[in-house]
Order: sequence, then C-alpha cells, then structure tokens
Amino acid sequence: MKTLNDFNFENKKAIIRVDFNVPLNDKFEVTDATRIEAAKSTIIKVLEDGGSCVLMSHLGRPKGGVNDAFSLKHIVAKVKEIIGVNVKFAEDCIGTKAEEAVANLEDGEILLLENLRFHAEEEKGDVAFAEKLSKLGDIYVNDAFGTAHRAHASTTIIAQFFEDNKCFGNLLAREIESIDKVLNNSERPVLAILGGAKVSSKITVIENILDKVDHLIIGGGMSFTFVKAQGGKIGNSICEDDKMELALEILKQAKAKNVQIHIPVDVVAADDFSNDANTKICDINEIPDGWEGVDAGPKSREIFDGVVNQCKTILWNGPLGVFEMESFAAGTIALGHSIDKATKNGAFSLVGGGDSVAAVKQFGFADKVSYVSTGGGAMLEMLEGKNLPGIEAILK
Ligand code: AMP
Repeated sequence: MKTLNDFNFENKKAIIRVDFNVPLNDKFEVTDATRIEAAKSTIIKVLEDGGSCVLMSHLGRPKGGVNDAFSLKHIVAKVKEIIGVNVKFAEDCIGTKAEEAVANLEDGEILLLENLRFHAEEEKGDVAFAEKLSKLGDIYVNDAFGTAHRAHASTTIIAQFFEDNKCFGNLLAREIESIDKVLNNSERPVLAILGGAKVSSKITVIENILDKVDHLIIGGGMSFTFVKAQGGKIGNSICEDDKMELALEILKQAKAKNVQIHIPVDVVAADDFSNDANTKICDINEIPDGWEGVDAGPKSREIFDGVVNQCKTILWNGPLGVFEMESFAAGTIALGHSIDKATKNGAFSLVGGGDSVAAVKQFGFADKVSYVSTGGGAMLEMLEGKNLPGIEAILK
C-alpha cells in the first residue's frame, strides 16, 4: 500500500482528491470544517517536502452544471484559515483556466480547483475528463474516503494515468488501517455493535461481520424485528415484518459460527414518538400495545457495558435509541461511556457509518474512541466486505 511517505514531493505538483463536501449556511459560510481539517496533514506533508498542492473536490449535487451556490470559491477562505497558507482558486477544474493556474503554481503553494461536479463527466467516470485532470499534477494522491466507493473520474479513473506515481493520503490510509484493524488484524475478543433504524439497511454488514466477530450487539430500532421474530410482543415499535425470517436465519448462522448475539432485554417505551411522551421501562418481550421501544433500558445498558469491557476490538455503527430526542438518548450515551472506558483500558474502538458518528460528536465521545471514520457510505461498503473502486485504483 503506497502512502505519502513513499514520495518526496520536492518540486512536484501533487494533484490531491480531497473531500471538501462541507455544509454551508445561507451566507455560504462553512458550518462544519471537519473534512477540511481531516485533509490538513496530507497537504502539509506535500508543502513541507517543497512541493505544491492542486486540490480537487466536489461540493453538493450541482447535477453536472455550473451553479454558483455550489462553487468551491465559498470555502477558499476557510481552507486558508485551517491550513495557514494562501489558497489560489481556479474557476474551472479543467481547460485553460485550470492549466494556467497550475502552470503558475509555485512550490509551497496551494491551488483549489472549482467543483468537479460542474462537469457531468465526473460522476460518469469519463476517461477523457479524467485524463484532463491527470495533466494537472505529477503525483496523484487520493485522500477522499467519503467518495472512495464511487468510480468517478477524480476518485478512480484518473489513477490509471499515474502508473506508479499515485498513493493514499494520510486520511485515507488511516481509514483503511482502522477498518483492517477491526475486520482482519483484530485483537480478540472482537465486538460489533449495530444499531439504527432498520435491519434491511444493515443486512449485508451483519452477514459479512459474522465471520469476523465474537460478540454482536443488535440494538436500536432493528432489534424489534429480531424480538418479534422470536415471539416477543413489541407493541408499536418499529419493525420490518418481511425481514423476520431473515432475522431468524441470522440468529441461526450466528450460533453456527459461535458468535454471541446480545439483544436488549429491556427498553424505554414511549406512548408517542415525541420527546415529551410518557415513558416507562418494559421487558423487551412485553411492550404493551400503544407503546413503542425508543431506547435501551437500564438492564440492557448494564449488560452491554459488561460485553464492551470484555472485548479488545470494538466496532460501533448505529445508535441504540432515538438519540436525536433528549429523552431517548440515555442508552446511546451509556454505550459511549462504556466504549470510552474500554478504550482507556486498551481496546481499539472504531465508530463509523452514518448516525453513530453524529451521536459520538454530539455527546462528546469523538476524542475518546480510537478512531471516528469520516465516510458514511464508504465505511458501510467496507463493512459489507466490498472492495472500494477508489482504493483498488491506487493498489493496481
Ligand atoms: P441508521 O441510519 O440506520 O444508523 O439509523 C439511525 C436512526 O435510527 C436514528 O435516526 C435513530 O433515531 C433511529 N432509531 C434508533 N433506535 C430507534 C428506535 N427504537 N425506534 C425508531 N428509530 C430508532
């Protein structure tokens, strides 16, 4: 696996695919700069070697046409502030404007290209478009984990024009190493915690990780499909009836593979899907009609704490309850504390794939776990055991 450390960038122009798809408010100000900060160490390495950076990214979904609202010019000042170096801007990512800006770029400088998705060819993975991009740098660096599962021109197709001169940036390398540490080179016992709303969106993940883990906690909304399938009474809790057979099949497979499955034993039940609802603690198999399970109950939190703290490798994807509502966040917060404790005691903990990242950030656990992944869809596809085109293209 080639990384930045395999290159000396002195007098070289690195063309770096970053993920600067950051949220903007109605004044076009960046409201969360995490993704820009995540690219910093890669950019600094190139500049410190004595090279220059040509940064390319998408922003939003302009659908293949120029649209000022999605212009990357809005983030130039933020990139400059975070990296601490002046940032030049090219009004197009290919053509004369881009080529001239690159030709004028000196060592130690940064150029940000306009939104790649102003050209429909980007998402189509167009080879001619990728070739034009490839002319803008000597070494191709992919540091965009968030789009590594897409075979787009700038994330995948471009790599073929760089034979040996291509590598992973620091962020992408760290993402790959973290997930490898969980799925392939893990210290046992290994635990995966899957929560969130639906079984259907996590089926392939469950099937793939059953071969990798010793313990599996199934929490959140998806646990009710498992409970009902085994004859429990779940009241009005969220459930996918058409996935009940699959749930039983998963339990069977887990048994055959010696994986211990842990499902909540009690829940916080609410009489309405609202923060002010009346609540009571119920056995998960005995939720009355008119009530729905919205969070893991106190006994479950205690049991999960025991499981988490006997494991050396922990993967967490999906909340244990409707954490967006304060009244139903306690189970997810308790799990965060358990993982924090296990991490302090030497376990490796990885959080990733969508809403659990929002939860760990919201509740202040982001710097207490070993690694928080930056890519939702990309992370889920890796957990499903898929090879991501953006990663494969560098390895080829
Ligand atoms: P996912 O994107 O699949 O990880 O699902 C995350 C969503 O699951 C969050 O918005 C949670 O509010 C929701 N969720 C978790 N537990 C429950 C539950 N018991 N009932 C309904 N929704 C839930």
